[in-house]
Amino acid sequence: MNPIGNSKYIQQVNKKKILNLIYNAKSISRAEATKMSGISAPTVSRIVDCLLSEGLVEEIGVGESTGGRRPKLLKIAADNNCIIGLDLGTTNIYGVLADLNASLIFEERQPTRIKEGFYQIMGQTAEIIEILIAKAREKRIRICGIGLAVAGLINRQRNIVEFSPNFHWHDADILGVLRGRFDLPIFFDNVTRVMALGEQCYGAGKQYKNFVFINVGYGIGAGVIIEGKALFGSAGMAGEFGHITVDRNSKIQCDCGNFGCLEALASGQGIARTARMELEKGAQSIIYEMCGGDLEKVTAETVAKAAKKGDVLAWNIFTQAAEYIGLGISALINLYNPEAVVLGGGVVQAGEILFDNVRKTINARALNRSLRGVPLLPAKFGLKAAAMGAVSLVMNKLLELELADFLSSYKEERLEL
Ligand SMILES: [Zn+2]
Repeated sequence: MNPIGNSKYIQQVNKKKILNLIYNAKSISRAEATKMSGISAPTVSRIVDCLLSEGLVEEIGVGESTGGRRPKLLKIAADNNCIIGLDLGTTNIYGVLADLNASLIFEERQPTRIKEGFYQIMGQTAEIIEILIAKAREKRIRICGIGLAVAGLINRQRNIVEFSPNFHWHDADILGVLRGRFDLPIFFDNVTRVMALGEQCYGAGKQYKNFVFINVGYGIGAGVIIEGKALFGSAGMAGEFGHITVDRNSKIQCDCGNFGCLEALASGQGIARTARMELEKGAQSIIYEMCGGDLEKVTAETVAKAAKKGDVLAWNIFTQAAEYIGLGISALINLYNPEAVVLGGGVVQAGEILFDNVRKTINARALNRSLRGVPLLPAKFGLKAAAMGAVSLVMNKLLELELADFLSSYKEERLEL
């Protein structure tokens, strides 16, 4: 590296250090930032001026004096900057506008036009983004970027969705389509990893450096956070937890083509399918009345409600699903020795009935007492986890400064707002 490149790199690292200090400290003086960062006072001052002029940081009130003039405190300008987060789901596309503290400013939800093709769904996504941009403009807040959570295998080297079984997409170039329409930084990642990031940044995983996030919704996936970093694997496809085989004799085929996958047996669609199959075979259950005799209407939610009312069939189906999930999680606990396991996704809304049975299986299967005692926590964001995770995806880029530099070249646009 030449000396110019080198000094630019050091400037970047220093700027990142200071921005992270301000972000984590909530409020901090220049003197404290200098002390904590070990960077020289004039350099800290220059970086702070730069962050102030970019609008990412603001000065508030005054702190305690240590003898001289009382210092002004710095904080992240969370209210004047916002992020657009989108959960690209097969049922709904859910978009949020959130400030840098992850406080929700506005949300827009539309049923996904799933029957239409990739370009139509991207068109719908763009419409939702436009609604959120209009809202930010109305409130005169700067948009730092757009984050998207997508179900499917992401190839990070090619920056595409290589395969999405739920959408039936192959090599879908989301960025290629959206970047042509929006002059803002756009990032996307696999929905479960994005949810894990949201929990790490703002939710149940905040205090942990090593945790596993499990998403049990329409499908099943895992986001593994090791030493504070998400595990991607060589091409970005790590975490396909739903496709481990938990019953090799199963006749139930998974969307991926294999038989006996965890996802096929214990996800929302798996639970609903098992209930339908049992009812078709003539099993007695209040589920039948609950869906008005139309078995197509049976969802995991119906089964959970019936189980809570004491329905034996529903209870057994849920207990069985929870046991499969517990089996899978025990394997992850044995592999990664996490500090906590966070459970999120639609099926988790069933609450105790799921948690109790997952916990029972972990107690029976994890290797020793300390592994068995790992806390099993509900995700903080519930059904908003993917959209709020998409917000964290952009927030992380901001703290890594990839975005801050982009934004500083964007002053013109900001003034226009
Ligand atoms: Zn599978």
